[in-house]
Amino acid sequence: MMKLQQHGVTIWFTGLSGAGKTTISQNVESELRRMGYSVELLDGDIVRQYLTKGLGFSKADRDENVRRIGFVANLLTRNNVIVLVSAISPYRDVRDEMRDYIGNFIEVYVNSPLAVCEQRDVKGLYKKARAGEMKNFTGIDDPYEEPLYAEVECKTHLETISASTSKVLNKLEMLNYIGLKYSVQANKKS
Ligand code: ADP
Repeated sequence: MMKLQQHGVTIWFTGLSGAGKTTISQNVESELRRMGYSVELLDGDIVRQYLTKGLGFSKADRDENVRRIGFVANLLTRNNVIVLVSAISPYRDVRDEMRDYIGNFIEVYVNSPLAVCEQRDVKGLYKKARAGEMKNFTGIDDPYEEPLYAEVECKTHLETISASTSKVLNKLEMLNYIGLKYSVQANKKS
């Protein structure tokens, strides 16, 4: 059987809680799977239950969280998997460190104003943070450092989920990680 070559890359989604990282990364994941690519999604919320269980939300712990995710993302990327990382990852220095470490790296800034994220309050966490029931909450009493050179920016308060998803897929195509028109699945049949 002919083995099709796919190139590994890590697509790193960063942004405030409720900005849309999980939503967009899951949509990108299912599109890529549909096209026949090998994909893994490392979602911050799930990772924190296993790989980084026990870590808190100090800068040191957040950095450790990001570095452990980056370690796994790197292993997968060098084995030609398309890796989607969805994590607040609020500190620019450690995100840039992951960019240098992994190499094939696309940063997606999932950008939505704090007020909109708070209005959405998908997990009810902003309410808790405002009530003082949660400390070190990003955007409330903990910093978020915006990317300066993200390859993609999704302004999720202004665009639809499908528009945000397409932006990411188009960037992957533009950088030659995927062929939207001639997907792996389509190639398999020829
Ligand atoms: P995060 O993973 O960043 O914490 P979620 O994906 O869990 O955020 O929640 C984002 C919310 O915003 C969802 O309810 C989603 O339906 C909504 N939303 C509205 N527009 C967009 C968009 N363009 N992209 C992503 N999410 C969007």
